[in-house]
Amino acid sequence: MEKPPDDQDHTMVLDPPATRPERQEMVSQQLRPRGITDPKVLEAMATIPREFFVPPSLEREAYLDGPIPIGEGQTISQPYMVAIMAQLLQAKDTSTLLEIGAGSGYGAAILSRLATRVIAVERIPRLLEQARHRWHQLGLDNIEGVVGDGTLGHPLQAPYDGICVTAGAPDIPTPLLRQLNPLHGRLVIPTGPRFSQVLQTVRLDSQGNMVATSHLSCIFVPLIGQHGWEG
Ligand code: SAH
Repeated sequence: MEKPPDDQDHTMVLDPPATRPERQEMVSQQLRPRGITDPKVLEAMATIPREFFVPPSLEREAYLDGPIPIGEGQTISQPYMVAIMAQLLQAKDTSTLLEIGAGSGYGAAILSRLATRVIAVERIPRLLEQARHRWHQLGLDNIEGVVGDGTLGHPLQAPYDGICVTAGAPDIPTPLLRQLNPLHGRLVIPTGPRFSQVLQTVRLDSQGNMVATSHLSCIFVPLIGQHGWEG
């Protein structure tokens, strides 16, 4: 049976890393010097076309060292922030990961190269629709997009080997702790006041208590929801 024309026309092959000098420069100038050493993270950042995840009018800025507006008052995170969060998750090939705040879909695309499966939750349906379209076009078929309040996690596929929250939370949402694999799961999350947070990694000890490590200061758009900020 013939494939529907839609699939034939839209599936594109990921660029070989060497084809885009800006992407290589991003890796060598923004990521390596700041301590991104995980070869799989570096490879994913060198392979996924970031320009594909920004509005067409901002394509030329795709590899700049900062966040970029993606509409709806949201942003695609700075490349370094995407890379450090991915590195802190310590994902394995066999991992199932949960991302809260799919936004443009770029972060989930990076994570999809490090794990078996990625569930990406986004509260703004229009953003998720665009993200899904991009994943499909790139042939990234191990990402599942879900519309909803990610502060509640996504219990259906729990427990997760890693959870990455890409919006700033006032506190650690308890549903996310409950959906973390108790043995080795890692939650990477920016927490703190609305306009300045600290990026933290959270694990559970053998008694199920939280063990948090702080990494760096950062500023994310707010995590809005039942266990986040009011919208
Ligand atoms: N990872 C994204 C970053 C997007 S910015 C990327 O690579 O582009 C953070 C996103 O979190 C925004 O799209 C925002 O709508 C979303 N968000 C905020 N609160 C949320 C919640 N409770 N559940 C799901 N998504 C949320």
